[in-house]
Amino acid sequence: SSESKDEQTKSKRWKDAFSSLKKNSRVWCLNSDNTWTLGIVQSVSKEDSIVSTMEEQNVLSQAKSHSHLLQLPSSKLLPANPIILEGVDDLIQLSYLNEPAVLHNLHFRYKEDKIYTKAGPVLIAVNPFKKVPLYTTDLIERFKGKKGENLSPHVYVTAESAFAAMMRDGVNQSIIISGESGAGKTETAKIAMQYLAAVGGGGGVENEILKTNPILEAFGNARTLRNDNSSRFGKLIDIFFEDCGKICGAKIQTYLLEKSRVVQQAEGERSYHIFYQLCAGADKELRETINLRPANDFRYLNQSSCLHIENVDDSLKFQETIDAMDVVQISKEDQESAFAMLASILWLGNITFRVIDNDNHVTVDDNEAVSCAASLLKCSKEHLMEALCTRKMRAGHENIVQKLTASQAADSRDALAKAIYAGLFDWLVDCINKSLEVGKRHSGRSISILDIYGFESFVKNSFEQLCINYANERLQQYFNQHLFKLEQEEYISEGIDWTEVEFIDNQECLELIEKRPLGLISLLDEESTFPKGTDYTLAEKLKEHLTFNGCFKGERSRGFRIRHYAGEVTYDTIGFLEKNRDLLHSDLLHLLSSCEMHLPQHFACNVEQTLLKLTGPVRRSGIESQKQSVATKFKGQLASLMQRLEDTEPHFIRCIKPNTLQQPNLYQEDLVLQQLRCCGVLEVVRIARSGYPTRIAHQNFAQRYHFLLPLSLANQEDPLSICVAILHQFKVRPDMYQVGYTKLFFRAGQVGRLEDIRLQTL
Ligand code: ADP
Ligand code: MG
Repeated sequence: SSESKDEQTKSKRWKDAFSSLKKNSRVWCLNSDNTWTLGIVQSVSKEDSIVSTMEEQNVLSQAKSHSHLLQLPSSKLLPANPIILEGVDDLIQLSYLNEPAVLHNLHFRYKEDKIYTKAGPVLIAVNPFKKVPLYTTDLIERFKGKKGENLSPHVYVTAESAFAAMMRDGVNQSIIISGESGAGKTETAKIAMQYLAAVGGGGGVENEILKTNPILEAFGNARTLRNDNSSRFGKLIDIFFEDCGKICGAKIQTYLLEKSRVVQQAEGERSYHIFYQLCAGADKELRETINLRPANDFRYLNQSSCLHIENVDDSLKFQETIDAMDVVQISKEDQESAFAMLASILWLGNITFRVIDNDNHVTVDDNEAVSCAASLLKCSKEHLMEALCTRKMRAGHENIVQKLTASQAADSRDALAKAIYAGLFDWLVDCINKSLEVGKRHSGRSISILDIYGFESFVKNSFEQLCINYANERLQQYFNQHLFKLEQEEYISEGIDWTEVEFIDNQECLELIEKRPLGLISLLDEESTFPKGTDYTLAEKLKEHLTFNGCFKGERSRGFRIRHYAGEVTYDTIGFLEKNRDLLHSDLLHLLSSCEMHLPQHFACNVEQTLLKLTGPVRRSGIESQKQSVATKFKGQLASLMQRLEDTEPHFIRCIKPNTLQQPNLYQEDLVLQQLRCCGVLEVVRIARSGYPTRIAHQNFAQRYHFLLPLSLANQEDPLSICVAILHQFKVRPDMYQVGYTKLFFRAGQVGRLEDIRLQTL
């Protein structure tokens, strides 16, 4: 089978790599806890090797004072790179591309605050969690207009090469940033935007574009246990340029805002920043107009034992948010309406219910909370009270009014608060887009920056994780296709047989999720329209129809497992149907449209369109009526995102979080390794390794090794002849290299061997 063949090639390559394992070879030794220690081989026998390991610093200086000896089976050793390759700019330069080598190289650079490293075409950014002197205007000036070749890796270089390629080829560019929460995606996106604003600025729009960041962060970011400033939505920003390279406008698209956070947060986390900013920073007049209290007085804010973030002054931040809203030309009137909406949400959260009969039916406590909420929404208090604790339904030809229980009424209150917040967020993005649509007649050239949640795998995974991981599968496929294409192009341009390039595919997993009618989303949508569907019946249905797919595995009860490209994730279907339907009950919808304020009416309008599509006259078949489920809407958004990206030349940035404590100078190897595996960096490395990862120009190769040849051979004029002579002299096997038009291509490890010989000869 192909797998065992794969194993065979692997073991053959492994042996090749070890043909050079001998006394004094540098090696990585696998410890029992799966970490790696650097060592030097003292002796080799058929099964075991004796290795002396040392503190890293000592290995570097070759001092052997504190060494101690280990006896290990040779299978627990991996070749380490020669010292000259310590801390290289690009991982592809490494002779040995194994995991410990990659980890070590990144760590080596991180210790010197070199947080950026290339992995072939990908930029890796390790979060420093401290100020690093890498973002000065001086530096921006230095990078402007420079070709990437001899510059050390940097977001600026990536942004510059995107800008240059757009100007040169007229092709739209994209910068795709991924990584897990807290890895530095949003900061990286801002750094890229700052660079583009500096090179394409001058018209003034660039400042507006930069100011969208504090606004969206105020309304879309929150403190979580992983990141004090965690974005709870995905974002794509297209920056448009005129022919001359000046920025003339921008457009923002957001994905899947986490609404539930408005009404509930995990212990130690916060709701969206803007609430605390408003409570802390509103001036006396605004405070009175919108009936504001300190954050601690609101249940939506005080339930998670976290009101403040260390080193953050919410009142100062509020000023920044307002300033940014001014720059983006959101009128004072609109700003005040938005703040009134926020206050209405907070007061809704304080609404309480009182049981009125033996069936646990409730009525709203008629107090300050409901009065304030109603007056802020400009609706009648009675209407609000009624909408929160009853539900009108049609039974045959009759209208009946059903009373709600305490928990149903609380759900309906929370649903209203979430709908208002989601509406407010979308409205804000619309406002920003209207204001940024400055240069309507631009040339069509653009650079898009995508800042989107990375792969997630927790102890408990729900609908949100499924959507996020689905998005990552799509991006990974795009990444693989792009990488494959790049490799292929390089091989073709060098005249080398490219059938060696291996394409890594995640099509099966995407089909599991997307396929119609028997894919996860279709089945989910179908179950969502069944009035009797439950999270259990959904799980049963998935297990019944999806088990044939190799990426799917049913689990006990509501569980199922998906094998994603980045690892297996077990999902629990609890809440899937509800979250996928995401319906606002018609009573609440009517309430919103009855408000005498334009914002709630506007929100109601947007929701209403969704409902019409679900139940309206255009309904033709069961499947069509579900077009607007959350999963299907997201699938559509992703499809158009992918289409947009297809038309661009992509630049990938992978952000890595070096520790879970958000602390500087701490590098947790296992954490980094797990992210490198998830974000595809090791895939890049694997693709490269499966072909000919080491590429050296004929000239450079000849220069470096010609002195190893006898004089008669070393004196040839032509670099290629010298190269070939070297290859012959040192018996590099023909299947270990290929000769391209300008470069030599080597299998992993070959140059390490030549380096050893070179060092011994020097
Ligand atoms: P993500 O968007 O991936 O969740 P963020 O971009 O919000 O992560 O980064 C989390 C935190 O890490 C930031 O608030 C900041 O403190 C720190 N950080 C990230 N990138 C950098 C950087 N390049 N320099 C300094 N600090 C950074
Ligand atoms: Mg973020």
